[in-house]
Amino acid sequence: MSFPQPTALLAWYDRHRRRLPWRAVPPERTDPYRVWLSEIMLQQTTVKAAAPYYARFLAHWPDVRALAAAPLEEVLKAWAGLGYYARARNLHACARAVVERHGGEFPASEAALAALSGIGPYTAAAIAAIAFDLPATPVDGNIERVIARLYAVAEPLPSAKPELRRLARALTPARRHGDFAQALMDLGATICTPKKPACALCPWNGSCAAHARGEAEAFPRRTPKREGALRRGAAFVVRRADDFLLMRTRPARGLLGGMTEVPTTEWTADFDEATVPGAAPRFGSGRRRSEAVWRRRPGVVRHVFTHFPLELSVYVAEVPEDTPAPAGTRWVARAHLAGEALPSLMRKVVARAIEERSVCDGS
Ligand code: SF4
Repeated sequence: MSFPQPTALLAWYDRHRRRLPWRAVPPERTDPYRVWLSEIMLQQTTVKAAAPYYARFLAHWPDVRALAAAPLEEVLKAWAGLGYYARARNLHACARAVVERHGGEFPASEAALAALSGIGPYTAAAIAAIAFDLPATPVDGNIERVIARLYAVAEPLPSAKPELRRLARALTPARRHGDFAQALMDLGATICTPKKPACALCPWNGSCAAHARGEAEAFPRRTPKREGALRRGAAFVVRRADDFLLMRTRPARGLLGGMTEVPTTEWTADFDEATVPGAAPRFGSGRRRSEAVWRRRPGVVRHVFTHFPLELSVYVAEVPEDTPAPAGTRWVARAHLAGEALPSLMRKVVARAIEERSVCDGS
């Protein structure tokens, strides 16, 4: 078995590189803003899911100055549906820092990039290599997989990460750093896939230890993952007679910070459905107090966050048109929901409630 040659991978990349909306094709100049925007969007999101968001962001905010000048609310709305909303807040903070601290130009140094909001070691290395052709080696999940197979690394993830980074750095050639990083990404995404890798088409198949053993899919080895405990709660979808829904804004910090939601109970591991009536929104006060009639939708809405899975029961109620919104909430026309920063969990909750309505009144 020969040593893996970077030149073989680069030659493959020259013929088979993916056409991606954010990727400059020679002789186009690479725009650091586009590289940064795409890398932030691609953190825990697929190319297919990120592409329309990337196009929308670029149409709204074609450069970092435009994005820095945008209100955070607008950025969160444009991000809604991509998930991991802390990324959108960091994206905005980063754009402002680039304008305020670096005169609107992304710094051409891995360390200076890593000092900006939302740019971790991987993203800093990716931007440094792709946008500035600096000798940096980004190592994400795709690249970890390629390297673990190439050298049949026996140590399981996540403890193998430092070793995989060391091996990837040792492979990085003396020139074409950006192309090499993108070639590794493309190889992991299109050939060295998690299941059924296309080893016959791989430019490194003559130097790959896992392939030589006939057990490519067995790498990378993994330590079994312990999932966070299931949390449960209830969500309250209140529909006013003129088709407005009751919404509120989550606190700026923390999970889904600053996003729009329907009122809910706390989400806890020991949630007790018997406590729901006491937690439901109340309307009016004193003699003008009115009690909504709640109906529970069958089943639950399931969602998986990074650290825990969640199940929400959905309760629906209908109230008259002149019902004031309780403190801390507001009415939003159902027709305007698309313009709200509504995370996908809440889209599922509203969809579940509306399903019921269509069954109940035929609308
Ligand atoms: S030969 Fe197969 S397992 Fe090895 S790097 Fe190539 S695609 Fe991955």
